[in-house]
Amino acid sequence: MSEFIPVNTPLLNGNEKKYLNQCIDTGWISSEGPFVQEFEKKFANKVDRAYGIAVSNGTAAIDLAIEALEIKAGDEVIMPAFTIISCINQIIRIGAVPVLVDSDPHTWNMNVQQIEKKITPRTKLIMIVHIYGLPVDIDPVLELAKKYSLKVLEDAAEMHGQEYKNLPCGSFGDISTFSFYSNKNITTGEGGMVVTNSPELDEKCRSIRNLCFKQDKRFVHDRLGWNLRMTNIQAAIGLAQLERLDEFVKIKREMGAKYTALLKDLEGYIELPLEKTSYAQSIYWVYGVLIKKNCALTPEGVMVELAKRGIGSRPFFYPMHMQPVLKNRGLFDGESYPVAENLYNKGFYVPSGLALKLSEIERVSSELRDIFLANAR
Ligand SMILES: *Cc1c(COP(=O)(O)O)cnc(C)c1O
Repeated sequence: MSEFIPVNTPLLNGNEKKYLNQCIDTGWISSEGPFVQEFEKKFANKVDRAYGIAVSNGTAAIDLAIEALEIKAGDEVIMPAFTIISCINQIIRIGAVPVLVDSDPHTWNMNVQQIEKKITPRTKLIMIVHIYGLPVDIDPVLELAKKYSLKVLEDAAEMHGQEYKNLPCGSFGDISTFSFYSNKNITTGEGGMVVTNSPELDEKCRSIRNLCFKQDKRFVHDRLGWNLRMTNIQAAIGLAQLERLDEFVKIKREMGAKYTALLKDLEGYIELPLEKTSYAQSIYWVYGVLIKKNCALTPEGVMVELAKRGIGSRPFFYPMHMQPVLKNRGLFDGESYPVAENLYNKGFYVPSGLALKLSEIERVSSELRDIFLANAR
């Protein structure tokens, strides 16, 4: 039996060990170590931002951004229905109101044509979330934000190294967030970053991240913060990863192109991910496919078959308006977002990690061909 191919394996063969050894040798393992600031500076610089605030994970980065933007109970936040729960947690906790937008059937991102009709006098923020490979069409969102004086939060957790019209993802709107979880384009194991050009937001994020300790009176607090600090150990790995981001992006695009070439003949059964739009070329953070209407297979069925053949896979995101935890709170009653629902009902993704070998892409593709063609016979 050939070896199991996990859905993700990170690539850690650069300077990771060297920098980690420096942490151990110098004793700098907490968030006070020098790699944290260096990682913040270099990462912010890479995405054309003035400030970077490193945090413990990508969910914490979003929580922190929402808190720093002073979104309050009753404020409305426009966001995609098709995304990860991390995007909505803090909105719910503070009693703000999530207002959902359906996806574009081709890019799987938030359909920006549907935003304007969701804007009300209570709308405060538009949250854009780049999904899987292609960025959201950002310019129309920025125009709306300007027209209605709204804030913009960009969740770029899946888009390190991606560009929108030749400008880096993570450089748009008031504040952007990243995750460095081990399946992201660059990783620190767990980790995240908030980036912004606003000195006020930078200062607020730094303070909230660190329990709102004050410079002058350390143990006297006038705001409630959290401990969301990133450790020097995480930052050490992050720095080594960041050195290779351009190379990683290239690898991801090659992997995506390879899968697409090998799966072309399954296009009667599955819809392959879009390679590019007028504003960006896919980065294939994960290689996701949609089972077509005329094919009887389900993502669950295919994923079970793949597992039997030693291949990891994952379903697509479960849309926000269908989440039991949110429905139980009386949210989204009677609402439907057909494109987002179809993405969940028909989508799954195959091994896409940076350490994936060409021979493994070939094996995954050949097993997929076998599964779909056997079903068709
Ligand atoms: C991974 C991810 C997050 C959450 O990041 P964590 O580090 O896992 O908390 C948030 N948003 C999107 C779009 C993601 O893909």
